[in-house]
Amino acid sequence: MDLIIKNANVWRGVDAKPWIGHLYMADGCFVAPPADDLAPSDAVETIDAMGCLCVAGFVEPHIHLDKAHINEDVRANVSGTLDEAIEIIWERKRAYVVEEIAERAGRVIRSALANGVTRIRSHVDVDNIGGLRPLEGVAEARRRHRDVMDIQIVAFPQEGILKNKGAEKLMWQAMEVGADVVGGMPFNEKHPQDSARHISIAFEIAKAFDADIDMHVDETDDVGARTLEMLAEQTIEHGWQGRVTAGHTCALAGYDEDYANAVIALVREAEIHMITNPATNLMLQGRFDAQPKRRGITRVKELLAEGINVSFGQDCVKDTFYPFGRVDPLEVGLITAHAAHMSLPQEVEQVFDMQTNVAARVIGLVDYGFAQGCAADLVILDAKSAGEALCKQATRNTVIKAGRVIVERKIQQDWRWTPAK
Ligand SMILES: [Zn+2]
Repeated sequence: MDLIIKNANVWRGVDAKPWIGHLYMADGCFVAPPADDLAPSDAVETIDAMGCLCVAGFVEPHIHLDKAHINEDVRANVSGTLDEAIEIIWERKRAYVVEEIAERAGRVIRSALANGVTRIRSHVDVDNIGGLRPLEGVAEARRRHRDVMDIQIVAFPQEGILKNKGAEKLMWQAMEVGADVVGGMPFNEKHPQDSARHISIAFEIAKAFDADIDMHVDETDDVGARTLEMLAEQTIEHGWQGRVTAGHTCALAGYDEDYANAVIALVREAEIHMITNPATNLMLQGRFDAQPKRRGITRVKELLAEGINVSFGQDCVKDTFYPFGRVDPLEVGLITAHAAHMSLPQEVEQVFDMQTNVAARVIGLVDYGFAQGCAADLVILDAKSAGEALCKQATRNTVIKAGRVIVERKIQQDWRWTPAK
């Protein structure tokens, strides 16, 4: 036995009862189901969690590692919109060098790890401006951090596939040289027919590589954006149910009730996973609205009510879209709770589930959780419950990756004051 965590308050899901017991790890995996009895063992190390909440590693399902930290050396996004954010990147992207991308991405990966994230899915731009350099840079960062972070890379044609000359060829190449998932941004084409073709090309590539699909969908206030419906229809047509994810889907919030309900029913039939990115979209959307301004995020509660997997992602870290971000799922979870009106005790638990079990399902992890044989990833939080962890943005006391302690925090707070009697 390599490592035992005693008195772990194991977070297992929304409806699971609180349970405190012991976790056993060896060779990078949980070697036994969580146990009530502490078996005598020759473990190399034992950590007493003292009843603190233990999570099987947070999962960050939607981030852009290639763009992180570029706001340090580009002009400001004056309109605050998605369009201007994309435009500003063009010039910076032409100057991209693989090493500096790897360095910026590496900073973000370590920040995520310190916050208890042990798995990441990152989109990387694929277009005729930066070519495959963003992919090469993030792949290099992934190589450097391979023993502490699992990273999936999505080939992301942010400039469109038809609209951006050469992007289709680059998408095929990206999948050949190391991308895992086929991305997309179908609304960023000139005509709805081109958006449909954009999605078809993604399916052609996904089928050739037996890959999942994860697209940026209708990230706009324009309720005329209807590519979520197209994506759901094609998912069913191609038999790719359960293998497709749609991020952002801001326009869905603005549809009239009948159309929104019809699209949600289709999303459910297509078993599409949804990711909301409230930090970025609260910042970007509704910029041209008169008061009251729209909240900018998708219909989270309506999707959850239909049993659809809904997770959330950080999306942006200090880039042209969003000036903040430190890949802290507790921070983005708290923003999600506010933005999606999730305030009941059950809903707060649901928020916590979105960054753990649900996010793991969204990005297709098969070794996530505490069962025997699952990867021994673990975060011990300075909190006793999910609600407390979100409320106080709990300290991550210990972060364990594949059975190895990677981050440990020892904070002592001494009070030099006592309340008056
Ligand atoms: Zn994104």
